[in-house]
Amino acid sequence: MSAQFDHNRKLYIETVGCQMNMLDSELVVAALRKDGYELTDDPKAADTLLFNTCSVREHAEHKIYSSLGRLKYAKRNAPHKVIGVLGCMAQKDQDLIFQKAPHVDIVVGTGQLAEIPRLIRETRESANRVQQKAVSLGRRDGSVKEVSGSFQSYDPLRDPEMRPTPFQAFVRIMIGCDKFCTYCVVPATRGPEQSRSPSEILHEVRVLADQGVKEICMLGQTVNSYKYSEDGRQHRLSDLMYAIQQVEGIDRIRFVTSFPKDMTDDLLQAVRDLSKAVRYLHVPLQHGCNEQLRLMKRGYTVEDYREMMGRINETIPGCSVSSDFIVGFCGETEEAHQKSMDSIREFRFKNSFIFKYSERGGTKAAELLPDDIPEDVKKRRNNEMLDVQNAISEEGNADFIGSRVSVLVEGPSKTSEKRAARGDAITVPGDPLATQLMGRSECDRIVVFDGNPRLAGSTAEIEILDCTGTTLIGSIVTREVQHGSNTVLPILS
Ligand code: SF4
Repeated sequence: MSAQFDHNRKLYIETVGCQMNMLDSELVVAALRKDGYELTDDPKAADTLLFNTCSVREHAEHKIYSSLGRLKYAKRNAPHKVIGVLGCMAQKDQDLIFQKAPHVDIVVGTGQLAEIPRLIRETRESANRVQQKAVSLGRRDGSVKEVSGSFQSYDPLRDPEMRPTPFQAFVRIMIGCDKFCTYCVVPATRGPEQSRSPSEILHEVRVLADQGVKEICMLGQTVNSYKYSEDGRQHRLSDLMYAIQQVEGIDRIRFVTSFPKDMTDDLLQAVRDLSKAVRYLHVPLQHGCNEQLRLMKRGYTVEDYREMMGRINETIPGCSVSSDFIVGFCGETEEAHQKSMDSIREFRFKNSFIFKYSERGGTKAAELLPDDIPEDVKKRRNNEMLDVQNAISEEGNADFIGSRVSVLVEGPSKTSEKRAARGDAITVPGDPLATQLMGRSECDRIVVFDGNPRLAGSTAEIEILDCTGTTLIGSIVTREVQHGSNTVLPILS
């Protein structure tokens, strides 16, 4: 046993942001478990409190600073507690964090997470606490090779408790981004685009399959830009999908987030041809007006996006597509806003994540373009976009009523969990253990239905009876075998 092994340490970790951050937290927890830590969801009981942060929106940063503010007095009363800030804010604003929250002990950037166990141990052991930081080089701090090298590679450690469910796992296939959209901090916080070796990825997928994972979600900021030279050939995302299709135990393969310009035909054909591929693509359009796309430096026009949607619909009929939109970006006119709403109507996205523009320091937009749309106008446009999208989503869901969909069961629905927490559990007549469950269809629609929680991790056939804008509501299709005969009767429970 290591001399530095800490027994019964309690770790509290709060994660804000995208799936990348969720995966980072999973890896950090796995590493700290090796040092004897257990997770707690009670900040007061924790010896070490970590905040894995996001810089994409101002709101996410405020949230972290207010969480840190609340800990100021806790730290005064219990100076042995170690407080750490990780992730994108830590990468971007190291000194500002120590300035605004001097009770923070460690700040660790996105590419240096493997340093955390050592930094915590050193902080704990030092009699005179010194603030410590480990951050990757910024874009301008060296050559591309040096900067890339400062973003450490991947850690294969996993922590099943931190996964979305025991049956689903994220696998990072690349980090960083080289697109440099003018509003975005990611190229600065996550560094240059770097793809990961296919053999490493496949090894990790096999380990996850052995642990009972059924669904693999490959992650990358622009996941379909993936490319890696190995064994004398160039590997693409479609090649990874063909390889993962062969892994026994894995039932579903998905990937987020795709970049419109990199949506190649080989990838669409893989989604069409592979039985395990989820028929769902998240391809953010961001705006329906070419002038706004130009100011955002997205590198495509609405016409280019339309051409891509044509190829998706032709190659994978029935494929769901979702988007992100920014409203109230610099100089957005009413006419431009109307064009964004028209694009939702035209492309009929399954859903869209709609965000009000917030200026981020260090971006080209913050440097060169005035954030000139008043907050009340941003808010109104945001609500109008949501109304259009919600109506489209509900119409899209209504098309499923009367059909059957195959669902990977994730577990009790959120409603079910909330009601159980209030002591008001959902009950199902005839099965005292059954409750409302949720899962996702092959085209990524959320489906709720009544069933036994033991179904979690299995695939169930669900008849869709009703819907809302966000959810399909159905009933399990059960089969009854008449013993003594080969007749299988489909009945609806
Ligand atoms: S593609 Fe653009 S928005 Fe997406 S991570 Fe890269 S720079 Fe940011």
